[in-house]
Amino acid sequence: MGVNIALDGPSGAGKSTIAKMLSEKMGYIYVNTGELYRAVALYMLRGEVDIQNDEAVAQKLPEIKISIEFVDGFQHVMLCGEDVTSLLRTPEVSMCASTVSAVPAVREFLLSMQRDLAKRYDTVMDGRDIGTVVLPNCDVKIFLTASAEERAMRRFKELQAAGDSSTYEQVLEDINQRDYNDSHRDIAPLKKADDAVEVDTTQYDLQQSVQMISDVIEKKLAERKEQEKKTSRRELIDLDDIKPVTNPKKIGFIKLFFYGIVRWIIFIIYKIKFDIVYEGLENLPKTGSHIIASNHRSYRDPVFAAMRIRVPCSFMAKEELFKGNIFFKWLITFLGAFPVVRGSGDTSVIKESVKRLEMGRNLVIYPEGTRSKDGKLGRGKTGVALIAALAQVPVIPLAISFKGEKLKFRQKVIISYGKPISPEELRLESANIRDMKSVKDKIMGSIASMVDSNVNKL
Ligand code: C5P
Repeated sequence: MGVNIALDGPSGAGKSTIAKMLSEKMGYIYVNTGELYRAVALYMLRGEVDIQNDEAVAQKLPEIKISIEFVDGFQHVMLCGEDVTSLLRTPEVSMCASTVSAVPAVREFLLSMQRDLAKRYDTVMDGRDIGTVVLPNCDVKIFLTASAEERAMRRFKELQAAGDSSTYEQVLEDINQRDYNDSHRDIAPLKKADDAVEVDTTQYDLQQSVQMISDVIEKKLAERKEQEKKTSRRELIDLDDIKPVTNPKKIGFIKLFFYGIVRWIIFIIYKIKFDIVYEGLENLPKTGSHIIASNHRSYRDPVFAAMRIRVPCSFMAKEELFKGNIFFKWLITFLGAFPVVRGSGDTSVIKESVKRLEMGRNLVIYPEGTRSKDGKLGRGKTGVALIAALAQVPVIPLAISFKGEKLKFRQKVIISYGKPISPEELRLESANIRDMKSVKDKIMGSIASMVDSNVNKL
C-alpha cells in the first residue's frame, strides 16, 4: 500500500490544481478520479445512452475499458484505447458525469480501479468520496471547499480561457446543480469524512492554499509515523506467543445435535418475522475455524450471521451482558458469546478469539466495532486483520442489509456471504500498522462492495 492523501470536495473547489501541485511537491502520483467518471460519461454520450435510466447505463459498462497512464506525472485517461483526456472537461460531459456518478453500478465499476492505484503508488487522489468510501483508512484526508460563487468564478475564467462561451450565471447554475446532485445521491454522496481536515479556500489564492494543505499533510504524516512506531513495538512484544490455528478440535456430535435444534427453531422464527433473502450461500463454511467478518446493523446480527451455519459460531459481547439474568448469561454463552472486558487491552481479546477458532468454532467479528444506524459502512478497525493474520484462517465477508434503523415485522433483510479470503491473502509482511491496514482494507473492501450492491436490491 502506498501513502495516500485524499482530497475531496465539491466541484470547482480547486482540487485538481492543488492536487497537481501537491503531488509534484511530494513526488506522488496525482489521481484525478473525476476524470474516470467523466470518461464513463463521454462513453454514454457518444453511445446516446439514456443516462437517466440506471439499467441502460449499467448495461453499457462491460463494454468500457478505462485505464490511466502517467506522462510526465500527468494523468492521461484512455477510453477503449483512445486518449480522451482533452475531451473530458466540457460542460456537457461535466453534467453527464454528475448524473452517471450517482448510478451504483458505475461507482462499483470504478472502485477497484481507484483502490488498486492507491495500493500500487503513493498518491494524491482527488474526488468526492475518497476519504469516506474509496480509501477510508488513507493517511491524510483533506476536504477542500470554497463558496459556490467563488468556485463558479474560477471555473468561468478557466472555460473562458479555453474559448468556451458559457456565461458566469450558467456556470454558477451548473455548479449549484452539481453540488446538489453530488450531495443528495444515495450512494457515496459528497460528504466530509469525520476525520478529514476542512480547508476553505474562498479567501486564499492558490499558493496560500497549497501551503496550508502541505502543512496539514506534513503534520498528519509525522503524527502517523509516530503512532506506527508505538503500535508495531507493542504488537511485537505482546503477540509473540499466538500461533496459527493448524489443528482445530472437532465439535462433538451431541453438542452439534442440540445446537442444531436451537438453530433451526431460531431459523424458523426469523423466517416468519422477516423477509430474509440469502446470497452467496455457496460461500458458507461447512466446518469451523473460519472468521466471518460482518457489517454491524442490529443486535440481531449474530443470529443473522450464524443461523445457516452448521458449526457454532463465537462472538465478542459486552461484559455487561454477562452480569444480569443467569438464564440469559447461560443462553448467550451456549450460543457462543464471550465477554470483552473493557480496558483489559487488545491482546486478551485476540488470544481468546484465536482460542475459539482452535476449539473448532467460527468467529463472527464486527470490524466497525459499533452499530451503523443508517446502513453505511463505518471505518473498520485493524483488530480483525490481526486476528485473521495470526490465526491464519479464511475470512468470509458478510453484509447484512435492511432499510432504516430498526427492523420491522416482515421487513426485507439481505444477508450476503462473500467469497472466502484465503489465509495466504491475509498474511502480514511484517507486524506494522501499514501491513495490517492493507489486510483490513481487503476485508472491509469486500464487505463494502456487497453493502453497496445491496442498496439497490432493498
Ligand atoms: O471532479 P470533477 O468535477 O472532474 O468530477 C466530475 C463528476 O464526477 C462530479 O460532478 C461528480 O459527480 C463525479 N465524481 C464522483 N466521485 C468522485 C469524483 C467525481 O462522484 N470521486
